Amino acid sequence: SSTQESLEQEVMDKINNHPCYSEGAHQHYARIHVAVAPACNIQCNYCNRKFDCSNESRPGVTSNKLSPEDAVKKVLYVGGEIQQLSVVGIAGPGDALANPKKTFDTFRMLHEKAPDQKLCLSTNGLRLPDYVDEMVKYNVDHVTVTINSVDTTGEIGAKIYPWVHWNHKKVFGAQGAKILLEQQLKGIQMLVERGILVKANSVLIPGVNDKELPNVAKKLKELGVFLHNIMPLLSKEEFGTYYGLNGQRSATDQEVMEAQEACGMDMKLMSHCRQCRADAVGLIGEDRGEEFTPDVFQ
Ligand code: SF4
Ligand code: SF4
Repeated sequence: SSTQESLEQEVMDKINNHPCYSEGAHQHYARIHVAVAPACNIQCNYCNRKFDCSNESRPGVTSNKLSPEDAVKKVLYVGGEIQQLSVVGIAGPGDALANPKKTFDTFRMLHEKAPDQKLCLSTNGLRLPDYVDEMVKYNVDHVTVTINSVDTTGEIGAKIYPWVHWNHKKVFGAQGAKILLEQQLKGIQMLVERGILVKANSVLIPGVNDKELPNVAKKLKELGVFLHNIMPLLSKEEFGTYYGLNGQRSATDQEVMEAQEACGMDMKLMSHCRQCRADAVGLIGEDRGEEFTPDVFQ
């Protein structure tokens, strides 16, 4: 149908103008992450709370936590310094949707004061269905969901997520993993229906979800996720103080490539998300985060 075609055209336009997805765009557009989201609502075995959420971040750097007001000040200031600034993301250091008040206060103010900036967020997806309307309201352009398994028994998920926080209590093991998966799939479907771009990240954990990732890729394609990105678990060596998965080793470059091939990834759609820490600033591949400390923009 023509609706279908125009939706696809819209998706292609969004991708082509986005610094994180389009090879052509990342020379010309810049992005900023504002670290307004400190809390998280699940526990990933690979998370090291000293650093930013592994959803989107580079290890070894702790971001400055910002209030929504300061985040907006920072965006306006950086926008004056870096003319190519076109995307503002909330990617941690915890989960954007585990901090809904801070995340949406920031988006509301940005929608008002910097209407030309595209807004994005990254999330583990647990609270996605609850906030799709809010995202539509502030014209959020795209969402990144980290999803590491689509196993409906929750057995694989239980090895990755010891618990999720649900209805004011911790739900452990497979039961928690099942809730997370249901919410992720439901949320992704809702976003796609509303025309919000959805990208997914999966963390490749050798011996845990390596065989599962092709199933994840298949499911995501069915749901209309436009890009799926596989990244390695960050290793002990890189982290210095890594505690993850009881000493689970990181995947090798070779293993990551094999997994990407097994999942039939479109490598032309480059994803640079994994290079962004929660307070990244600048063109992709460039990080000027250190330049814009609070004393500079306040
Ligand atoms: Fe850590 Fe991110 Fe997992 Fe939350 S979703 S536990 S911040 S890696
Ligand atoms: Fe948004 Fe990810 Fe790009 Fe950051 S790297 S601006 S979170 S899409």
